Amino acid sequence: MDGPMYSEMDVSRIDPEEALVDFETVEPGDISGEIDESLLKDYGAEDKVLVSIRIRPGDAPSVWQRTHKNIKLDPQCGKSPQEFMFDEILTGSENKPVYNAVARSHVCAAMEGYNAVIFAYGQTASGKTFTLSGDEDQLGIIPRAMKDIFAYIRRTPNREYLLRCSYLEIYNENIHDLLAPHSTSTTQPVQIHGTGPNVVLTPLREEVVTSLKSVREVLDRGEGNRRTATTDWNERSSRSHSVFRVVIESRERGSGGSSPDGRATPSGRQTPGFRPPTPGGSRLQARGGRSVQTSVLSLIDLAGSEKATSDKDRTREGKYINTSLLTLGSVIATLGENSAKNKNDHVPFRNSKLTRMLQPSLSGDARISVICTINPSKDAIPESTSTLLFAQRIKKVQLHAKKKEVVDTDALLERYRKEIEELRQRLSEREAEAPVRSRRLSAREQLDESRAMHDLNARIRQLTKLILTSQTVDENKGDETRPSSPAKVDFDMSPYQELLAARREIETQSTQILSLEAAILARPVLPPDAPESEKDKLLAEQTKTIRELEIVVKGYEDNLGEPLRKVQEDVEREWAVKVEREVKLREEKEAWADELVKQLDKERKARMKLEEERQALAAFVQKFDALGLETTLPVPQTKLNPPLPMPGGAAAVFAERHKHRIHPLDAIIETESPIRLAPLSIEPSLLEEEWDGVEDMSFELEKAGKVMKLGSQSPVREVFGDKENTPP
Ligand code: ADP
Ligand code: MG
Repeated sequence: MDGPMYSEMDVSRIDPEEALVDFETVEPGDISGEIDESLLKDYGAEDKVLVSIRIRPGDAPSVWQRTHKNIKLDPQCGKSPQEFMFDEILTGSENKPVYNAVARSHVCAAMEGYNAVIFAYGQTASGKTFTLSGDEDQLGIIPRAMKDIFAYIRRTPNREYLLRCSYLEIYNENIHDLLAPHSTSTTQPVQIHGTGPNVVLTPLREEVVTSLKSVREVLDRGEGNRRTATTDWNERSSRSHSVFRVVIESRERGSGGSSPDGRATPSGRQTPGFRPPTPGGSRLQARGGRSVQTSVLSLIDLAGSEKATSDKDRTREGKYINTSLLTLGSVIATLGENSAKNKNDHVPFRNSKLTRMLQPSLSGDARISVICTINPSKDAIPESTSTLLFAQRIKKVQLHAKKKEVVDTDALLERYRKEIEELRQRLSEREAEAPVRSRRLSAREQLDESRAMHDLNARIRQLTKLILTSQTVDENKGDETRPSSPAKVDFDMSPYQELLAARREIETQSTQILSLEAAILARPVLPPDAPESEKDKLLAEQTKTIRELEIVVKGYEDNLGEPLRKVQEDVEREWAVKVEREVKLREEKEAWADELVKQLDKERKARMKLEEERQALAAFVQKFDALGLETTLPVPQTKLNPPLPMPGGAAAVFAERHKHRIHPLDAIIETESPIRLAPLSIEPSLLEEEWDGVEDMSFELEKAGKVMKLGSQSPVREVFGDKENTPP
């Protein structure tokens, strides 16, 4: 890890009242020496998005022709050169004029209480990061904006400011807090809660900055964390969006409650009074009737725009970036259409993290400046054209930027009452249009819609509760204010959507319960009245433990690869032997089966040949009988003397034999044939069947002998005899 584990300026550790900056405390070195009020064009006041093009210098002359505000493709480089018109077309490597033209008025608007967003959009290597961050020689928009902020404070003696910075990265649709230690930011991705103007990111570090030095520290730490999070830096930076935000809170330096030196008395933590309950809410307290103005300046270095359009890129990251950038594109397109044609179409803010996070700003609540960077080369024409078309769509968006102010406690209650009234009004309007709307909307839009309704109701309940807890119970007696009925919440929800929403809520709640329980279990045990030194000691111990754990985790991550590979290799080696043995066995068996089949075939052929011979012999005998050649002398029957023709002739004997035959083998034994096969089995086996007809072999010994030989030498027999698995 590059940066320190925690920062002294982490907003959770400091008293906001003690970190205020005003015209007296601004360090002179922190102020831009380049302030020139005449340069401050009032772009922000127009309800339009400021859209500028910056053409990066290149090796070859640019293929783009430009005037002050117009840009078109060199006719020699393209067929139908469309001419585009924007607020500024910028070239060159000087970042100062770029800052003055595209960012300065927006930074000032942020200081005046408006939310402001500055985007850099364009293909990878077209100069987004150069424009926003710059380098040592050419400071980019971010450091210049910070200088300008301090300069603004310096020339505004009647206000005091609290500045908080956050720095995050959206990669693969996960939000990583770049100011948190790397280990925490990966295990606890930042979540977006709430909708519309009440979007809150948690857990997100916000660091209080009081000087340029602390800003630089914050930026360096964020950059460092961003780089350690990745092995392929270029790849990641072109696929991720990085968002640097400054929350600017200010209030008038009033006389009421001021200390003799003219500064507001630090109220400290003990000051009873109202504090908004949301983590993203104002932390500077409105006091003595002086309201607190809050605004956010967001400076966004978008992922490479080629990832939004390339079909080649089908990787996981590519797809996600498509989601975020494409959603940004369609959100802006819809906003543009809506404002150009006075329509009220559904805007898909919720389809990506980036648009959801920026919803308050994009939905017209903020001043927006988009700087589209272009690569001047011929190869980049398609990408550059698509960038110009994107820029043209943004130009159509109409804005209605509003200042954000939080007034002091009494006025705040009044404000909340008004807000409740407004919300109720909106709710009933929606209710009235519901039947028409839901017919028009897709299922997904309906779900979004019902979520919005749900959030609206939640906000009403929250505000109502706020009022109840802020005032005495007596004051509220008889008050009709109560949470709106659940029936209202779900007026346009189908039962299925209702179920979905309920389940989502239960899931969120159970996660919250779990993490709360974990937090309770993990909390350090110390009596509340323990001396400060004890607390300090405990804190130091905990910090040490965290440090150690992080080292362990890092070591674990670094070293885990090696042992795992070893285990894998061991397992593979062990199994390779087993697999080899099995393969060999199988091969043997297959060879044996082949041999068996071959032998059976051979034997079948032999049997068929014998059968032919037998039939020929039988025919001969029959012929012989028909000739009436009879022997009168009885010849003793021996093994070598087969029975001679009987009355009826050889054919009769043959027939008689056939009649008495029970089993071919029995027949052989019966006749005491020299051909005796070992009784293999009672059941007729394949072999036995093959030997059908052996009985008649007694007619010719020579042949029988041959058969015998064949039988005893049969590899089939051997095989049967040898193999354990053969039936006995
Ligand atoms: P991106 O962030 O859009 O991917 P970079 O800002 O990193 O692109 O720019 C790519 C390279 O070109 C960097 O080395 C950068 O310094 C250089 N570069 C970009 N724009 C300019 C410019 N206007 N003048 C000089 N160098 C530039
Ligand atoms: Mg970049």
